Amino acid sequence: MANSEFDLAPSDRRRVWTHLVEKLERHYSDPSLLRVAPPLDPAEVRDYCSVDFNTPVTPTDAIDYVTAGLDQFIVHTSHPGYYGLFNPRPAFAGIIADAITAVYNPQLAAWSHSPFAVEAENYVIREFGRKFGYSQDSIDGTFTTAGAEANHTALLLALTKKVPHYGEKGLAGTPHAPVIYVSAESHHSFAKAAGLTGMGRESVRVVPTNKSFAMDVKALHRMIAADEGAGLLPVMVVSTLGTTGVGAIDPVKEIDSIARKYGMWHHADAAWGGAAAISSRYRHLVEGIELADSITFDAHKWLSLPMAAGMIITRHPSILSETFRITADYMPREGKELDIVDPFTHSIQWSRRFTGLKLFMAMLIYSWEGYEKTINSQFETGELLRRKLRAGGWKIYNDTKLPVVNFGLADLEGNPEKITRFCRKVTDSGKVWISVYKTGQTSTLRACITNYNTAEKEINLLLNTLSQARAEG
Ligand SMILES: *Cc1c(COP(=O)(O)O)cnc(C)c1O
Repeated sequence: MANSEFDLAPSDRRRVWTHLVEKLERHYSDPSLLRVAPPLDPAEVRDYCSVDFNTPVTPTDAIDYVTAGLDQFIVHTSHPGYYGLFNPRPAFAGIIADAITAVYNPQLAAWSHSPFAVEAENYVIREFGRKFGYSQDSIDGTFTTAGAEANHTALLLALTKKVPHYGEKGLAGTPHAPVIYVSAESHHSFAKAAGLTGMGRESVRVVPTNKSFAMDVKALHRMIAADEGAGLLPVMVVSTLGTTGVGAIDPVKEIDSIARKYGMWHHADAAWGGAAAISSRYRHLVEGIELADSITFDAHKWLSLPMAAGMIITRHPSILSETFRITADYMPREGKELDIVDPFTHSIQWSRRFTGLKLFMAMLIYSWEGYEKTINSQFETGELLRRKLRAGGWKIYNDTKLPVVNFGLADLEGNPEKITRFCRKVTDSGKVWISVYKTGQTSTLRACITNYNTAEKEINLLLNTLSQARAEG
């Protein structure tokens, strides 16, 4: 094959591969040599990025420049001192998968272009559907860019089910304005999705939460009845299993009964917390998830795969096709002759990368048992953190079993500026990263076990850094 300059000569390419692997291995083997979070100076970063596109550099120089930029100017989620926003240290199996995907570049729009890729994804989706408790013969689903697209998809499924001719006529197909219900602790992607569907963000009803930050089911019931009485069309209710801020788990079974009573779509947003289903010890926390019509689950959160790999899984095998089926004359036609589904008729996306390989490969290499062990150990590390914080005189605000802890001090909770200053002092140490989360009027510090390598040594370092910041006042 002729070598375009784009390919490099094979011998040069080998040298570049080797250089790249050495760079990546150095970062992967010990990110704790770096500051967890960079100082945030936009001018400095923009200056670093302002290169001359008229003057090419060698691939190795480009690699050095880009990795040095990343070393200095990102939050290192792979650092064991990162107690962050569900962003994991990427497990090695997922990294291998992303490299393979980049080289083979399978196109997942049409089945006939990538039979292996499409069927591997279908297989892993069905296995996860079963793990969540769906029955084998009714599972369908697709990989999404991430959880926000999965939640958006769920809303489209609900509208397709509830609004006559939604796909063709949109909201003009009904005189009753559709509304959806989420808890006050739910993810804001539903507001975005409501905007995108044309329902508008005001059609999202925010249901208050109880003292465990879980959805108040009585309030939900009242709100639905009132909306129905007012001529609106309740189309969907969302149970969040593991809220982003405090790890609350909505009462999924009670919410499901209400959804059935009013003929609504019930979506379970288990983007992070769904991983509990893999552990026989913690599975009970998400019991009832199998009742939901659809589930959002992100493999790039608790399953520690590189960003991003969201999934929408449903127990209604024809609803994705009803929602997204479109015929395009230029697309391959095998979909008509073979017993297969073209992914572009099943999802918001068209051209799509082999997102699911990360999960397929991780399952091959780690197996359910490997994941179960890791997930259990992260639960235990979360418990250890809670215990040590309590012993250190910190107040704990959430009461979830999931490994996310909201904590603080009486004189910080009502003072957003003071707690933000406190948090910045902690993260400025460069050794740990935590965040501030405000629920209602209460400001809390939030630490989540997102890195499977975070263990007692790192927890002790976090506690020491917190004590030091506290002593400095
Ligand atoms: C992270 C998260 C989302 C959004 O998912 P992305 O992968 O960030 O798009 C939605 N819901 C919950 C509960 C989440 O934790």
